[in-house]
Amino acid sequence: MKDDCIFCKIAAGQIPSATLWEDGDFRVILDLGPASRGHALILPKEHYADLCELDDAVGAKVMPLARKIGSAMMKALGCAGFNVVQNNGEAAGQTVRHFHVHIIPRYEGGPKIVAWEPGELNDADKAQIVEAVKMKL
Ligand code: 5GP
Ligand code: ZN
Repeated sequence: MKDDCIFCKIAAGQIPSATLWEDGDFRVILDLGPASRGHALILPKEHYADLCELDDAVGAKVMPLARKIGSAMMKALGCAGFNVVQNNGEAAGQTVRHFHVHIIPRYEGGPKIVAWEPGELNDADKAQIVEAVKMKL
């Protein structure tokens, strides 16, 4: 646990939260600034700043838990779908440096929440990107 980390404190139950699920590895809470009704956050109880630091064994449990929470939301809240969002680094919109996964219910006719304008992938760039990234794997 990291002393100055608010999500460590919430995950440990030291700061009260609206908790949807808790087990040995995770606490799932409602986001204080929801993008839609029911917006939740999956928090590991251990501190990892982001996905790059996340333990593999904990990471393997994240998607099954996201499915469990999202499925329950669809039954309980009447959303028609949900987004699973996970930000890494300030440039990507991460504001709390404790790994977390957003589960964002999506309602019929609701606003776009995760959206971008598609660009174009040209052949030269494609080759350069593939070569550069593969070198670092
Ligand atoms: P990020 O931008 O880092 O991916 O997401 C951080 C999220 O945490 C935001 O959606 C924000 O509303 C939420 N958040 C920040 N502080 C608190 C808090 O103290 N309690 C809860 N429940 N959510 C928080
Ligand atoms: Zn933390």
